Amino acid sequence: MSLRSKSEVVVIGAGPVGLFTALSLENRGVGVQVVDEEFRTAAHSYALAIHPQSLKLIDELGLVGDLLAQGHRVDTVAFYNGPDRCGELKLAKLEGGFPYMIVLPQSALEGLLERQLLAKGVNVRWNHRVTRIAPGTDCVTVEIDKLARASCGYAVATTEWITEKTLNTEAAFVVGADGHRSVVRRTLGAEYARTGESESFAVFEFHTDADLAEETHIVFDRQTTNVLWPLPGGRCRWSFQREHGASDDSRTKRRLAVPIGRQAFPHVSGDELSELIHSRAPWFGGKIKQIDWAMEVRFDRRLAGLYGRDRLWLAGDSAHLTGPVGGQSLNMGLRESADLARRLAGILREAAPLSSLTDYNEQFQAQWRKLLALDGGLVPSDRAEPWACERCTKILPCIPATGDDLYRLAAQIGLELAPRGKL
Ligand SMILES: Cc1cc2nc3c(=O)[nH]c(=O)nc-3n(C[C@H](O)[C@H](O)[C@H](O)COP(=O)(O)OP(=O)(O)OC[C@H]3O[C@@H](n4cnc5c(N)ncnc54)[C@H](O)[C@@H]3O)c2cc1C
Repeated sequence: MSLRSKSEVVVIGAGPVGLFTALSLENRGVGVQVVDEEFRTAAHSYALAIHPQSLKLIDELGLVGDLLAQGHRVDTVAFYNGPDRCGELKLAKLEGGFPYMIVLPQSALEGLLERQLLAKGVNVRWNHRVTRIAPGTDCVTVEIDKLARASCGYAVATTEWITEKTLNTEAAFVVGADGHRSVVRRTLGAEYARTGESESFAVFEFHTDADLAEETHIVFDRQTTNVLWPLPGGRCRWSFQREHGASDDSRTKRRLAVPIGRQAFPHVSGDELSELIHSRAPWFGGKIKQIDWAMEVRFDRRLAGLYGRDRLWLAGDSAHLTGPVGGQSLNMGLRESADLARRLAGILREAAPLSSLTDYNEQFQAQWRKLLALDGGLVPSDRAEPWACERCTKILPCIPATGDDLYRLAAQIGLELAPRGKL
């Protein structure tokens, strides 16, 4: 069966970036439809740090109060060189209404955004997979399969996802917030080039009695970068970078896997957590109580060659990927969605020209090229201490900020932005 419908904007993907885009459009009076092939929002923390600039954007949607109530506030980023504390960033020195980060599970942020959309009459269409996108001059046709679980099997009953029906939706614009395997990016024919080496992290979330106060701890050792985040409810997350780089299949295939959505991640044992703490952060005195999450995650570094064209636009992981330490992917994704929603509303409501989107592509490409150290990077000023000079290139993806805030924070440890020719 095939059904037809119309929307002003179809947002593909109901991760944090898709939900944020949809709510920003809805608040500007633009009709949206949000579809996602999964059956619900994220079940875990994933990206967990909301930067000061993102708090401002969330405040504009009227949701910051709920976020502050649910999250753990972080004022300070402490750096360790091996076992020694060597420097810190004070977020309180940033300008603006929210000079701190809020740490909370990605699932909590997504839940908040989804509930607000629902209050405005927008139901996320879960179990809807976009299979084809046909851009035209005045509109885009999106083919969507509505998925349903079907019981099958004979001797042993199993369930699988089948297409219950196919919908054809016409929209003035399509936003691809559909993550790293983006169908929108593939329709655009945009490259998704690697910009650096992949990294694997062993990630553990557990209950602890450690007093983590309002600090995030970033620990550099000989080769690796490691990070400790406090979480609400007496929990924390340690992410330890693997020395051998991204996990290779021959190692992981023999290990248990943790299924998350339609992906599987290798399981890491709790014994390894104690060993990693002992060898890389002996100062961490907290007890390891119940472990909620223990798995290995690989993070690529990639940047799309194009953020969009005409009526198809990307935001979030569909356009870029980086390491997890500074939370830059999610937070830059939120900035992109706010900016894109403003431009789309300008075109749909105030007759702004289609060309006003060109600048979206250029502005965020340029910002990511800096974040990924493709156009310049951080260099030590004469105020930088030896540890910061030595770790300079590793520090850039660890700073929990993007744009001007990132350079203001880097200046606190004597690092400054230099163009490519001066590196
Ligand atoms: C296990 C794990 C751990 C992580 N840890 C960290 C961390 O510590 N720090 C950090 O900064 N980041 C971390 N991340 C990354 C972070 O979660 C992402 O940067 C963030 O989710 C990006 O948001 P997004 O909305 O752009 O994309 P996503 O959250 O990936 O959402 C994309 C959505 O699009 C949907 N979709 C895709 N294709 C289609 C289609 N054809 N039709 C319909 N729907 C579709 C997907 O189902 C998905 O819900 C982690 C990610 C994972 C998976």
